[in-house]
Order: sequence, then structure tokens, then C-alpha cells
Amino acid sequence: MRCYDCLQEARSDTAGIGVCSRCGLATCENHARVRQVHVTRQIGMGSSHGRVPARRVVCHTCDTAETAQ
Ligand SMILES: [Zn+2]
Ligand SMILES: [Zn+2]
Repeated sequence: MRCYDCLQEARSDTAGIGVCSRCGLATCENHARVRQVHVTRQIGMGSSHGRVPARRVVCHTCDTAETAQ
């Protein structure tokens, strides 16, 4: 699994560590952004946040797209 961003930069020596949860492309340690997200649980009629955060990987491109103003 090769990092797509690295392929774009003509670098092929890096190994992918994960898959972007937005675009689905492989991403490497340098290009991945790991975020903590809170999981919402449905309890009865309401919902609550779990105490332990979950994890989400997005690639550099999607991270920029999500955070750029
Ligand atoms: Zn990369
Ligand atoms: Zn992405």
C-alpha cells in the first residue's frame, strides 16, 4: 500500500500506514493526520458521549480541505 500523496510527489519509498476516512486513499505517516473524535452513543431517548475518544485518520489533502477557511 503506497501513500497517494507521496506518489504525487514522486516518492515511492514510504509505506502507507492507513486509509483516509474521507477519500479512501492510502496515506503514510508523514501525510496522515490522526484525529480524536468523540463517539455519540444512543441511550434511551437521548445520547451521550463516550469517555474514551475514538480515532480517525484523514490524509493531508482532506485535512486541509476540512480545516481551510
Ligand atoms: Zn505520504
Ligand atoms: Zn483523504
